[in-house]
Amino acid sequence: MTKEDEKVIPVRVALRCRPLVPKEINEGCQCCLTFVSGEPQVIVGNDKAFTYDYVFDPSTEQEEVFNTAVSQLLLGLFRGYNATVLAYGQTGSGKTFSMGGTYTSEQENESTVGVIPRVIRRIFQEKSKCADCEFLLSVSYLEIVGLTEKEVFTAHEMVGCLELGNSARTVGSTAMNAASSRSHAIFTISLEQRRKGDKSEIMVSKLHLVDLAGSERQKKTKAEGDRLKEGISINRGLLSLGNVISALGDESKKGTFVPYRDSKLTRLLQDSLGGNSHTLMIACVSPADSNIEETINTLRYADRAR
Ligand code: ADP
Ligand code: MG
Repeated sequence: MTKEDEKVIPVRVALRCRPLVPKEINEGCQCCLTFVSGEPQVIVGNDKAFTYDYVFDPSTEQEEVFNTAVSQLLLGLFRGYNATVLAYGQTGSGKTFSMGGTYTSEQENESTVGVIPRVIRRIFQEKSKCADCEFLLSVSYLEIVGLTEKEVFTAHEMVGCLELGNSARTVGSTAMNAASSRSHAIFTISLEQRRKGDKSEIMVSKLHLVDLAGSERQKKTKAEGDRLKEGISINRGLLSLGNVISALGDESKKGTFVPYRDSKLTRLLQDSLGGNSHTLMIACVSPADSNIEETINTLRYADRAR
């Protein structure tokens, strides 16, 4: 490693565009994004260009995403740096696919295996390379269900909220899908290492792998009453994450206040965002023209993070 490699670049941003899915093809959707070969750039429509650290076009395989953008964070982990990988994007854009959140050990198609299972394998490979090291590995898995706050006027309305909250806990595939669009799933791997026989120096590092809530504006449902119908909100965690990452990435703001405490999500990730840690945001988008509005929102959010 050279001196240059040692420099911590706090935030890197990868844009990943998935292929059109069968439903989009059946509906006659067209691709509204153009990729510039050899450049980390994407063009929306005819003119608007965005540049990121990496741009993965629809033909990019899972392995390439891992090798190009993720594996270096793992080397950092073994050198004592914390890291965070975040998948951001509207529901259906490929966050869970990219993170490998639905992996089972029976997954047949090796090429579709995503980030988390690849990370797990690599960690155990790296671990076996150091014969005179001792490792302690632990994992945790946490889901932060987005809170909905709502003004109530009657006891009946308040009981209705309780019922709604309880029904969200029902485990069923429909409920799970709805919940995954509103909650952040955080898989955390903690690594403790020390030289055999050396009890004094223990190096501890942490890697968070996060499948974020869908970034689409949540339209209030009819059930919440016409008065609130036009209210549109974005997940609070995503908003404050954007603010934190943008503060970290901006050289001119060095040393200024980073608003970690504005949300549960950023408070949880605080020790692995900024400071001596590496963050990779994988911004996921659909190529379909029917999604262009949310795609532009994601491109902007990711642009601000850089
Ligand atoms: P999200 O988690 O953002 O809601 P998913 O990861 O569930 O989105 O992806 C939506 C659909 O698109 C799934 O059917 C998934 O298999 C497919 N998909 C996403 N990314 C890719 C990709 N890079 N290549 C092929 N199919 C993909
Ligand atoms: Mg998902």
